[in-house]
Amino acid sequence: MTVLVTGGAGYIGSHVVLALLDRGDKVVVLDDLSTGNRAQVDSRTAFVEGDIADGALVQRVIAEHDVDAVLHFAGSIVVPDSVADPLRYYDNNVVKSRALLEAVIKAGVRQFIFSSTATVYAPDAPQPLAEDAQKGPISPYARTKLMMEWMLEDAARAHALRFVALRYFNVAGADARGRSGQSGPQATHLIKRAAQAALGRIPHLDIFGTDYPTPDGTGVRDYIHVSDLAEAHLLALDALRSGAASDTYNCGYGCGLSVRQVIESVERVTGKKLPVKLGPRRPGDPPTLISDPTRLKSELGWHPSHDNLDEIVRSALEWERRFNA
Ligand code: UDP
Repeated sequence: MTVLVTGGAGYIGSHVVLALLDRGDKVVVLDDLSTGNRAQVDSRTAFVEGDIADGALVQRVIAEHDVDAVLHFAGSIVVPDSVADPLRYYDNNVVKSRALLEAVIKAGVRQFIFSSTATVYAPDAPQPLAEDAQKGPISPYARTKLMMEWMLEDAARAHALRFVALRYFNVAGADARGRSGQSGPQATHLIKRAAQAALGRIPHLDIFGTDYPTPDGTGVRDYIHVSDLAEAHLLALDALRSGAASDTYNCGYGCGLSVRQVIESVERVTGKKLPVKLGPRRPGDPPTLISDPTRLKSELGWHPSHDNLDEIVRSALEWERRFNA
């Protein structure tokens, strides 16, 4: 039994690959290396460079490696890019994922785990967000993810397929042993940018908005360590392998932290003042996004072990130092 991981050379995919390998699962990675980094794919995996929409290739990989489950990370993830170039996002995230799903079903694989997002929820849904909170994706990126959730629901009703969709909140940090981290050069995420600013790789960190209806006026998010998120995937895989029905779970700690609190953490960890510049709100950013992770804990038995902002920030800084060294 082998797990096929699409996008296994990317940030989250590579951490899930490490978690799978560390517990002894066999893994084959399929990645076109458009944004992923081959060096971040652990050498214990089989690696196939190719397109998830190449049905013949996907079916061949599944047969050759005796794949029983697919973890699907490959896709485009930058929200502003999705606004500027929506058709590329619908192509990469929906059209190609549909082709992948068809090949997976044809090849007889019955277990599928999908990377979804907290941005499927309506911006004015009450916080913390439970899985059944009102949906209302506002970016093309978020819409592609919700479309895939619907596609999976329909496919699972029609075929012998069960899936888990995991809705990620704000994923950050890096592998504790320094084997992987966030490496995209054009990163837009707060903790990555803060680490770059702390190390002098960018002149300062922009604070996007100081007039939000939040305790200190800056945006509030639920930051989750990438290794705790990886653990959620292992639990979802185990649940599917033991016959669990299809389901969807939030992945976050249920704890809201502001941009200013993240900056304070960076300053605590480095012992230095972080250069910041106050600026206007970034278009499309909701004031607050906090998960209710009750079901992930009670139904899948998830116990996060890195739920500490300073630890997340420290690991992100260590990776940033190492990655650009
Ligand atoms: N943010 C910021 N400066 C940055 C990047 C992000 O102030 O350079 C803020 C952003 O407005 C939001 C929070 O940090 O309130 C998290 O943003 P990020 O891009 O990390 O994730 P998102 O929630 O947009 O997926």
